[in-house]
Amino acid sequence: MIRFDYARPDAVADAVRAGAGEHAAFLAGGTNLVDLMKENVARPLEVVDINRLPLGEITDLDGGGLRLGALATNNDTAYDDRVQARYPLLSSAILAGASPQLRNAATNGGNLNQRTRCYYFYDVDTPCNKREPGAGCGAIGGVNRIHAILGASSQCIATHPSDMCVALAALDAQVQVTGPEGDRTIAFADYHRLPGDEPWRDNSLKPGELVTAVDLPPEDFSTNYTYLKLRDRLSYAFALVSVAVAMRIEDGRIAEARLALGGVAHKPWRSAEAEAALSGADPGKPAFALAADALIAGAVGQGDNSFKIDLARRATVRALEQAAAGTPQSQTDKRIR
Ligand SMILES: Cc1cc2nc3c(=O)[nH]c(=O)nc-3n(C[C@H](O)[C@H](O)[C@H](O)COP(=O)(O)OP(=O)(O)OC[C@H]3O[C@@H](n4cnc5c(N)ncnc54)[C@H](O)[C@@H]3O)c2cc1C
Ligand code: SF4
Repeated sequence: MIRFDYARPDAVADAVRAGAGEHAAFLAGGTNLVDLMKENVARPLEVVDINRLPLGEITDLDGGGLRLGALATNNDTAYDDRVQARYPLLSSAILAGASPQLRNAATNGGNLNQRTRCYYFYDVDTPCNKREPGAGCGAIGGVNRIHAILGASSQCIATHPSDMCVALAALDAQVQVTGPEGDRTIAFADYHRLPGDEPWRDNSLKPGELVTAVDLPPEDFSTNYTYLKLRDRLSYAFALVSVAVAMRIEDGRIAEARLALGGVAHKPWRSAEAEAALSGADPGKPAFALAADALIAGAVGQGDNSFKIDLARRATVRALEQAAAGTPQSQTDKRIR
């Protein structure tokens, strides 16, 4: 490991000041950052430990929404009574990820900002534009079974690995940040970015900006929802494809539907056309198949990962069927420490 300075401020303003340097990194649960430092992928010269900041609470918002503190752990969030009752899609997505031990350490802010799991990004002996701008991309033409089928560029075909973020995208969450230029709110759809020709930028945070909270709007999708995650083994594995569905059914028709795909792009993938195809429709296979086709329109395989196109289509139909049927999600009922 390289040498670095370490600071552990008590106040958000001090953390923002300490994190403003070009080579600074915020340390939350450390379940991703510390791994990357050990692998020599992340080489911060200043590590700003934010664990003493007062950002660990989950609080009700006026009007019925919920604010998830950036330092609330993934498990505390998933098992919060209000999250389970009002946002079970989010609980299910979080609990589909990692392991109980990891989720006890991992924080909400860290989950949003975790880096890709592209093998080449982790292997410092191979070219990677995300790790080293201009170096090339080992995954294009290489081993790319886990890579993107949507929104990729000629510079990078990495995916965003988070489960939680797929649900947050479907729920239209908002990210609260504070930085050297003050506070701002970022719509979740604009938080993560596509790689384009700047694949080293995962999200729209400006230098030194700190995520302080994630706000959930008050909509109620607690009856018809699903988080479906398909992966190589049943636990402790990242999604090859995942689908978050939040739906409202009124008088036998779909009044509103939200759909987001994970494991297929550099950010959770939504499509206005897919959701429009569901609006007002009968909740059945014909509408679900149309929506699935719209959601993956433009998908391109890279070779090893071409199977994901059909997998995403079929997973979307299945997730919509489960959500429409109100199939309960089995993972939210007991806490394992
Ligand atoms: C073996 C293993 C399996 C996993 N499986 C899954 C899985 O299936 N699904 C899944 O979704 N995740 C999975 N994860 C990833 C895990 O969810 C993340 O590592 C975790 O959420 C990161 O949170 P953290 O608090 O530990 O972040 P850290 O490691 O502390 O930080 C991660 C990044 O976020 C930045 N950061 C942290 N907090 C903030 C903030 N408030 N503002 C701005 N930047 C910030 C850091 O600077 C760093 O760049 C797995 C991890 C491991 C090690
Ligand atoms: S896909 Fe992206 S992260 Fe992976 S090697 Fe290519 S540039 Fe790097």
